[in-house]
Amino acid sequence: MYDILIIGAGPAGISIAVEAVHSQIGTDKILLIEKAEEHSYAIKKYYPDKKLVTANYKGFEAKCTGVMCIPDLTKQETISYLDKAIKENNLNVKYSETVWKFHQNEDKTFVVYTDKSQYEARIVAIAIGILGKPNKPEYIIPSALKNSVFFEVTSTQIIDSNVLVVGGGDTASEYCQYLVQNNNEVTLSYRKKDFTRMNDINRISILALEQENKVKIFYESDIVSLENRDGKPLVKFKQEKYPDMLFDRIVYSLGGTTPSNFLKMIGIEFDGEEPIMKEHHETSVPGLFLLGDLSAGKKGGSIIWAFNSARKAITKIRKDYIIS
Ligand SMILES: Cc1cc2nc3c(=O)[nH]c(=O)nc-3n(C[C@H](O)[C@H](O)[C@H](O)COP(=O)(O)OP(=O)(O)OC[C@H]3O[C@@H](n4cnc5c(N)ncnc54)[C@H](O)[C@@H]3O)c2cc1C
Repeated sequence: MYDILIIGAGPAGISIAVEAVHSQIGTDKILLIEKAEEHSYAIKKYYPDKKLVTANYKGFEAKCTGVMCIPDLTKQETISYLDKAIKENNLNVKYSETVWKFHQNEDKTFVVYTDKSQYEARIVAIAIGILGKPNKPEYIIPSALKNSVFFEVTSTQIIDSNVLVVGGGDTASEYCQYLVQNNNEVTLSYRKKDFTRMNDINRISILALEQENKVKIFYESDIVSLENRDGKPLVKFKQEKYPDMLFDRIVYSLGGTTPSNFLKMIGIEFDGEEPIMKEHHETSVPGLFLLGDLSAGKKGGSIIWAFNSARKAITKIRKDYIIS
């Protein structure tokens, strides 16, 4: 049982771990899970190499309230500062591991599921930033189909429809389960013949739905094109065993996701476009916090905002939650 499990090792995730260490929580009680091979992936990927990293980015005040703080720096200096924070505080980071979902037990502790394992924690801090985006197929999606093609299932309510889900990972299985619950006729198109990428729970669930004739699975199927038929997608497959088929909707689950979709899938309440947050960046789920860019509104925050959001959250955690 970890005291704090942190999803995402960027400025916000690293700084809440550092704040936790500085408030006497043992490093063995803090776990960071990062989906990339290295920390601060968004900074490494999106910042141009010669960029000046400004402390008052987008007009956010450059005033630090917690342990971590930066002045204006180069990209490399910023990364080195975050590197040093991980090393000097002996932070335990699991890299190349993606959190898919979690749930809260009756005793208010959390179980967090990743593509590799599962963990228990008293507090969960989500610090995944706002830069994720879903992968798209290689063929063209006609613009006339924009209202019937989706890359997640939360932005529009899909009910009583004939839906094709494309993919073969955990999210594809979860989308099928969710769509069946909403009274849809569901078909899953998957390129391979076995579900090797799914965890046990999702594989068992999708196979059970197939057994109950609630989901049709097109194994070893490759879509070659989509055509518009009065606003509905006509799907053409490479394999002759699958004839051209008309669906009401298509949902692609080809990896990658938007952060708001991730939050909705795990059950965080939204008010319109924004997740509901109480004081100190706590969500409507007790013990579950949103930090960094996720806590800064639609356009995101800054590095110092991320550091300060961690400080706010740890103050609440120390005050209201009993931590060993
Ligand atoms: C081009 C650009 C320039 C910018 N310039 C500046 C600047 O000069 N100064 C400044 O202060 N700010 C700047 N910003 C903003 C700043 O980078 C962000 O505010 C800051 O990085 C937010 O930190 P974060 O920890 O919330 O999110 P991120 O930095 O986005 O980190 C999120 C981490 O979570 C990981 N993750 C995502 N999903 C999962 C999952 N499911 N499971 C596990 N891990 C996951 C990601 O791989 C990533 O490492 C800039 C942003 C951009 C895009």
